[in-house]
Amino acid sequence: SEGVTVQELAEALDVSANDIIKRLFLLGTPLTMTQSMSNDLVELVADDLGRQIKIITPEEENTFTFYDDPADLVPRPPVVTVMGHVDHGKTSLLDAIRHTGVTRTEAGGITQHIGASQVSINDRVITFVDTPGHEAFTAMRARGAKVTDVVVLVVAADDGVMPQTIEAINHSKAAEVPIVVAVNKCDKPEANPDRVRQELVEYGVIPEEWGGQNMFVNVSAKQGQGIDDLLETILLQSDVLELKANPDTFASGYILEGKLDRGRGPVATLLVSRGTLHVGDAIVAGQCWGRVRAMLNPRGEQVEVAKPSDPVEILGLSAVPGAGDEFRVFEDDRDARDLADERALKARIEEQNKVKHVTLETLFDEM
Ligand code: GDP
Ligand code: MG
Repeated sequence: SEGVTVQELAEALDVSANDIIKRLFLLGTPLTMTQSMSNDLVELVADDLGRQIKIITPEEENTFTFYDDPADLVPRPPVVTVMGHVDHGKTSLLDAIRHTGVTRTEAGGITQHIGASQVSINDRVITFVDTPGHEAFTAMRARGAKVTDVVVLVVAADDGVMPQTIEAINHSKAAEVPIVVAVNKCDKPEANPDRVRQELVEYGVIPEEWGGQNMFVNVSAKQGQGIDDLLETILLQSDVLELKANPDTFASGYILEGKLDRGRGPVATLLVSRGTLHVGDAIVAGQCWGRVRAMLNPRGEQVEVAKPSDPVEILGLSAVPGAGDEFRVFEDDRDARDLADERALKARIEEQNKVKHVTLETLFDEM
């Protein structure tokens, strides 16, 4: 079976295998060194040794379930990812959006410090998460991380549907995220926005005006045309989704990226899904934990709190978490540390499982 062997558990707990075998015997479950144990048995033996272990399955690990009273839910900003084929204008569009939308605070220049930004239009906020690349998007999804509410699919009107356009459609559909199409480069003489619409029908992305589900907007990122229209369309699409969250609870959400900064130590950009994150909160992200020492908003300004759909960069973690790791705040920092330690232990056990493939039987087979 798949479980941890007696020997592996002994090594992970730093006790002798004989000690574990003895305890197993007393529990009425005689096993040898190389036999594997059920998760329940692992927890039982560990408990017997005065150690607390809770085996968390990969599914459990990424799907903390939270209950909110519907009365506590309030509208939250949509979180948007821009996707599309290379050179169709993703970066240009994000730049145009950042300059069109009034930034949330009136700071001087719009300097982007983290891989996310926020703009406001008609007194409403939209959070843009920088295209994490298709691979990161897939990896996050595989880990159960849902960070995007709406995908803006950029298709160049002079080039039409290309391989990465199709890939983006597939990812969005698999993640059940609605697609708003930005038909870009409409300023070009050879632009043919209607042809883009026709081509996309084949992939199940059908304009509303043709009886489909998708909103389309013609834009020119280069000339800044149609950008307001696009932002308003994103808000319309978001309204359909009725995005809400409970801000009055411990924060949880996802890590967008982590890195080690020479001066500041581990730095993580995260997106709050639920609750409010405060400076000083005890947090766990993957196998890392710590107290939030400082928070920066996308403009690099220090902030004290982050609300649902807010992206922030935080300092204070013990190590660098991975993109897509779930984070959550604990009331007691000992609980945060315990969970991080459990995950680290489990990762070590998994690592050991990877290298210990040789049993006596396979050894003899190979000889
Ligand atoms: P990305 O690879 O999808 O991020 O595409 P970029 O934003 O880097 O744009 C690729 C090229 O297309 C650049 O040379 C841009 O200047 C150009 N471009 C982007 N948007 C437009 C547009 O609306 N009109 C025109 N004419 N060129 C554009
Ligand atoms: Mg780009």
